[in-house]
Amino acid sequence: MDKPTIDLSLPKTPREFGFFVDGGWIGAGDRDVFERNSPGHNVPVSRIPKCTEADLDMAVASARRAFDDRRWSGLSGADRAAVLLKTAEGIRTRAEEIAYWETLENGKPISQARAEVGGCIGMFEYASGLARAIHGDSFNNLGDGMFGVVTREPVGVVGLITPWNFPFLILCERVPYILAAGCTIVAKPSEVTSVTTLMLAEILHDAGLPDGVMNVVTGSGSTIGQGLIEHDHVDMLSFTGSTAVGRRVVEASGRTNFKKLGLELGGKNPQIVFADADLEDAADGVAFGIGFNTGQCCVSGSRLIVERSVADQFADMVAEKFKKVRVGDPLDEATQVGAITTDAQNATIMGYIEKGQSEGATLLHGGEQLDFGRGQYIAPTLFGNVTRDMAIAREEIFGPVLTVMPFDTVEQAIDIANDTEYGLAASVWTKNIDKALTVTRRVQAGRFWVNTTLSGGPELPIGGFKQSGWGREAGIYGVEEYTQIKSVHIEIGKRSPWVE
Ligand code: NAD
Repeated sequence: MDKPTIDLSLPKTPREFGFFVDGGWIGAGDRDVFERNSPGHNVPVSRIPKCTEADLDMAVASARRAFDDRRWSGLSGADRAAVLLKTAEGIRTRAEEIAYWETLENGKPISQARAEVGGCIGMFEYASGLARAIHGDSFNNLGDGMFGVVTREPVGVVGLITPWNFPFLILCERVPYILAAGCTIVAKPSEVTSVTTLMLAEILHDAGLPDGVMNVVTGSGSTIGQGLIEHDHVDMLSFTGSTAVGRRVVEASGRTNFKKLGLELGGKNPQIVFADADLEDAADGVAFGIGFNTGQCCVSGSRLIVERSVADQFADMVAEKFKKVRVGDPLDEATQVGAITTDAQNATIMGYIEKGQSEGATLLHGGEQLDFGRGQYIAPTLFGNVTRDMAIAREEIFGPVLTVMPFDTVEQAIDIANDTEYGLAASVWTKNIDKALTVTRRVQAGRFWVNTTLSGGPELPIGGFKQSGWGREAGIYGVEEYTQIKSVHIEIGKRSPWVE
């Protein structure tokens, strides 16, 4: 079937959306709405209901019913796989529309949004196989009178809270795995990027997902998000976002029903470059690692740690790359770096750029707001003369801001890399296998790249060490995360009596 092409011009009026519960749309009615302006153009593009606590209760009740009556978890893995595969087809058919809305609401370049949607199709295809692969274990070594079986069961109703930086990709790194495990979902997307989550609910429904298995409530973090993390009828909460809100999630779970948690939080990720690396490749990778998604990426390589003998030369090479990066209108097919997603994030990034200068770092490139007549853009920015104690070296900026620090020995490189509360991701660039393996083993990070950065796919798990989170998403690990284990002892033959 030919994929529909879509008009990439801006909508004349904002499109109205409802929210999705128990297999159907519910219109905003007399609820307040959240109007979203495209960050690349500053024009209104979507209107989303601000759901109420009663809406949240209704969505959780719908997911609870759908889980408890086994309409999904009671199906065979093969039947669940069929729905996931059909969903992959549904996403493929609507890929252009999803990419367009991702770009409108988030400000990311359309070419990047398309690639991300392609990756999401792969997530559903891969997870469909996993729905059939989930299995337990058996113990045939307990003597003639006993047999042991270990089964995996879906954990139940999963609350899924996602951020605005990769609204569709982060969703699809979780939803197919949660569904493969047999769970039901109440999703709460970021209030500024809700559209593509609503679209996924519709695609799942059209693919034959039973009513109530996927529900989406829209609204703010402080009302709907907080209500979801505190909800007693939610069995597990998967949260992706800031470390600050992650703490609230942990606290809410402890205060309520001890729901199981999956947390994917912030990062301050090192890029370690040795003098023996292919420096041209490394400079390109480092520029990509901080420029991609305007650095609004939990795994952005935001700390460049480079061997002193090549440090100045390498910083110049990265600055040259930054000069050539095409920043601009996210709807332009040629754009590589788009707009900053929210006004608040724009102010945060500019605040860090100011702070870096006032703390004594040297601005080597960028540092300014770019003016394209509308929208909000920041030039890729590079700081030299950075010391470990500076805020720009320690705190997650979540923008296109890279700091450079030199090192003299492998031990020093590892020490600088680990000198952070985070442990999400890291990259090392070297042609020396000993150095590559030593650094990979010793730097604390849940994802590691050697002579590349930001690669990913459905097979390899995602998650952080230290304060970057708990648990893993994607791959077989991602499905197992949404299961719980039951051990079963089965007596064979006559029981030896306790009471004679
Ligand atoms: P955020 O923590 O402000 O918001 C994330 C989500 O949580 C949103 O849906 C928001 O509405 C909701 N939320 C806000 N307050 C809440 C509350 N009190 N209770 C429940 N939910 C609440 O983060 P953000 O600004 O949307 O995203 C940026 C942050 O996310 C960065 O720190 C980044 O590192 C992190 N992030 C991490 C990963 C990862 O995989 N580790 C991926 C993307 C983003």
